[in-house]
Amino acid sequence: MKFIETRGNDGQRPASITFSQAILSPMSSFGGIYSPESLPGFDQDFLQNHINSSYKTLAKTILTNFAIDIEGAVIDEALSLYDHFDDPNNPVPVEKVYDDLFVSELFHGPTRAFKDMALQPFGSVLSAVADKRNEKYLILAATSGDTGPAALETFKGKKNVQVACMYPDGGTSDVQRLQMVTEDAANLKVIGIHGDFDDAQSALKTLLTSEAFNESLQDHNISLSAANSVNFGRIIFQIIYHIYSYLQLVRNDEITLGDQVYLNVPSGNFGNALGGYYAMKMGLPVKQIHIASNANNVLTRLINTGEYDLRDSSVIPTTSPAMDILKSSNVERILFDMFGAERTKELMLQLDSDKYYKLTAEELAQIQAIFAADFCTDQEGLEYIKQAFEVNYVMCPHTATCFKSYDTCREDKSIKTIAYATAEWTKFSPVVANAITGENFEHDKEALQVIAEKAKVTMPAQIAELFDKPIAQKTLIEKTEIENEILAFLK
Ligand SMILES: *Cc1c(COP(=O)(O)O)cnc(C)c1O
Repeated sequence: MKFIETRGNDGQRPASITFSQAILSPMSSFGGIYSPESLPGFDQDFLQNHINSSYKTLAKTILTNFAIDIEGAVIDEALSLYDHFDDPNNPVPVEKVYDDLFVSELFHGPTRAFKDMALQPFGSVLSAVADKRNEKYLILAATSGDTGPAALETFKGKKNVQVACMYPDGGTSDVQRLQMVTEDAANLKVIGIHGDFDDAQSALKTLLTSEAFNESLQDHNISLSAANSVNFGRIIFQIIYHIYSYLQLVRNDEITLGDQVYLNVPSGNFGNALGGYYAMKMGLPVKQIHIASNANNVLTRLINTGEYDLRDSSVIPTTSPAMDILKSSNVERILFDMFGAERTKELMLQLDSDKYYKLTAEELAQIQAIFAADFCTDQEGLEYIKQAFEVNYVMCPHTATCFKSYDTCREDKSIKTIAYATAEWTKFSPVVANAITGENFEHDKEALQVIAEKAKVTMPAQIAELFDKPIAQKTLIEKTEIENEILAFLK
């Protein structure tokens, strides 16, 4: 399987590259990214054969069908990391919340958010590739709170990979921040910046394309890569759980094989939703994909009006910070898949220069055939968390946004919905505790205890132990200082 460029080729880079090349250097011509040239399809027999497959077996088969240039043993090693999830036999449990609403829980890994689903195996594959080539890599991660901990966790102590992780100070929960600043390994650097997530993400994009920075890295014999979901190495692992969740509904007799479902995805950078889109294109019976946003509702507006409009927008801090995103990177792969490289380049360059683009009526119709969208305010989110708690389901504020789009986006009420829980309640406990009790909680620690008592759930060890760990990472700087800070770390 080859990977090609979303904004076409500049005549200097190769026209297509392998998977390992795409994960090592994810940026392509004209500021674009890489997408698969084609997707391996599957039919109903394939699904039939995998109804009872383990997650790892299903994943191995799908990855094999992608024919990527990664050895089987490396893939096996990467997939074995799912054995460290809460239940190795079922790393992605699907919970029935209402008769026609099922929540696929993607947060049972080490950092309690869905980023582990992809970053755990991705980190393993990338380190193996770097080792084999005897090359050193710097991973730059910009995080709104969940990518950072997951990237640090997966690369901790790895020989040929260093990680510099930037997070917006004040833009994450206590638990998320602690998960990062308590990581203590010589190959990890955590940098808090004064700014929001888009500042962190733009700083990352600037560094990735900065010649001066790249030259300094060459002096150290280090190449750059990225662990954000612009990296296809993450997306490939995010296709699998959509298929696996569907098969669980079949296995539990909730649907019959071949029945269509709605997928309902809390979205920010659109990696999770893109995985669902690819699964649908590969053959998963999906009626439509519902995109849930918070008050940063650029995706809702794009899907409902065809306009991507950042002209008057700045990021609104919400209680679902992992979705406080305006420039949603993976939308580019949808544009590319539907409208081709030339049009994608035109639209993306327009977004850069004018902070705006508008799809044609035909293009919008194509988008709306697959996607519908709505957004959920923080206040509505609290209501949904409370309602779910009343039927004994405890969920995080990101997951709550799906409950709004579940209410508003379904055209056919006979079709069941798979919504995705992207973080555990433990990562956003003050909001969850507030929703359940009506009281305000300043700090995570107290809120965690209140929820654990009220909901009769136990706090996982990964969270409970955080509060006693020493702070190892203390850097807090302006975004203009990032480049120097990272160079100092590499010395
Ligand atoms: C990253 C994240 C999201 C957004 O996922 P995308 O793939 O970027 O759309 C939603 N919820 C949580 C908790 C996350 O960590």
